[in-house]
Amino acid sequence: GPSMEQTNEIKSNFFPPSVYNIYKTPLLLHQGHMQYLYDYEGRKYLDLFGGIVTVSVGHCHPKVVSALQKQIHTLWHTTNIYRHPKIYEYIQKLVAKLPGELKVVYLVNSGSEANDLATILAKAYTGNHDIISLQNGYHGYSSALMGLTATQSYRMPLPVPPGFYHAMLPDPFRGIWGGCRDSLSQVPGSCNCPDECVSTEKYINQLKELLENSVPAGRIAGLFAESIQGVNGAVQFPKGYLKKAHELVKKYGGVYIADEVQSGFGRTGDAFWGFETHGVTPDIVTMAKGIGNGFPMAAVVTTKKIAAAHTQAMYFNTFGGNALSAAVGESVLDVIEEEKLQENCKTLGAYFIEQLMQLQKEHPIIGDVRGKGLMLGLELVIPFTKQPLPLNDIATIFESIKDHGILIGIGGRYNNVLRIKPPMCINKDDVDFSVSILDKVIKNFNK
Ligand code: PMP
Repeated sequence: GPSMEQTNEIKSNFFPPSVYNIYKTPLLLHQGHMQYLYDYEGRKYLDLFGGIVTVSVGHCHPKVVSALQKQIHTLWHTTNIYRHPKIYEYIQKLVAKLPGELKVVYLVNSGSEANDLATILAKAYTGNHDIISLQNGYHGYSSALMGLTATQSYRMPLPVPPGFYHAMLPDPFRGIWGGCRDSLSQVPGSCNCPDECVSTEKYINQLKELLENSVPAGRIAGLFAESIQGVNGAVQFPKGYLKKAHELVKKYGGVYIADEVQSGFGRTGDAFWGFETHGVTPDIVTMAKGIGNGFPMAAVVTTKKIAAAHTQAMYFNTFGGNALSAAVGESVLDVIEEEKLQENCKTLGAYFIEQLMQLQKEHPIIGDVRGKGLMLGLELVIPFTKQPLPLNDIATIFESIKDHGILIGIGGRYNNVLRIKPPMCINKDDVDFSVSILDKVIKNFNK
């Protein structure tokens, strides 16, 4: 394979500096099989980040590889101006996974494209212009989405494009109105409130305030929300928030758009889509990443009524719905079902979170353990405070976890959240191995 020196030179000469590599000692990866990655020296890594939650069923899953191989010898690409049976087959399978009226599919190529299109659909349908998203949410990178994305580290310091507003984040750990995990004396873990968090109403009132006083009257087109925030470090909203937010935005004339780019395809375990765990049926759903197990594809699914309002101009997307991505997408859906991966997310996720909470009892630098299924986060803090662990320490921990054979994600508002979102095929041994390595690495920081 290529040497580190060669890639260093190419990187510094030909890659923009804003494209960063995540490790101090960069990884030169060679192969991936299911939940494992291998570097050029043959070192094996358990991939707890799944290529940023993209590898849903496993690296080079044999069934997906063979579906792709079969298609690659037949036909790669025709645009939507012709018909190709694979796309028709795929669309039927995909909509079967969606509830209610969500039956019309736009095929695109990335999460950013999906969310960009969703803003257009919301505006076309409502005739309104304003879009609300939640603080610290990540929805993609484009000039329009600089307004939708509210993750500070990914936002260019440009004015927020007109018509985008950010609602206060109902974060049970760090939110300004607290929640079930706002006090360190309370038992951390997933939301245990019997009915609704005490803070839900406050956040809902702020959203209402925004709808009544900031968004000019009658101008709300839509509200975007992730079902669990991804880039922001597995932030879960208090019970009842999304349901009420959904009702409220509808009442004011907007639509609700669920960004399922990270939380979809069974990952949260309890349901195929994250929004189902909140008891909400969105008007528009955007999906990417896990939809193709790493193959570049994405989709927007909406209702007939909304799609019917999007006819002022013809819609065209050159690569959206190409035959290769349809073949891959179809096999991904098959594998999730055949290998019961949603069920695996549920049972292993419950086991994983239990083990992590055990770890938290022993290591006070773990300020919060949260998430659902195989979409988990560990927020690292200065022991017995809520102050984020200094970035130097985070970097050392992060690098050391890698040196022990595990690739983990990092994120959150203060970049102090370890993110766990592996391919959904991991097993109990992988969880036990992960917990033992986290234990070993984190041990040195409990001062
Ligand atoms: N939405 C969410 C929730 C995401 O996490 C991401 C990517 N991190 C996107 C949208 C954008 O997806 P893409 O990078 O494929 O454009």
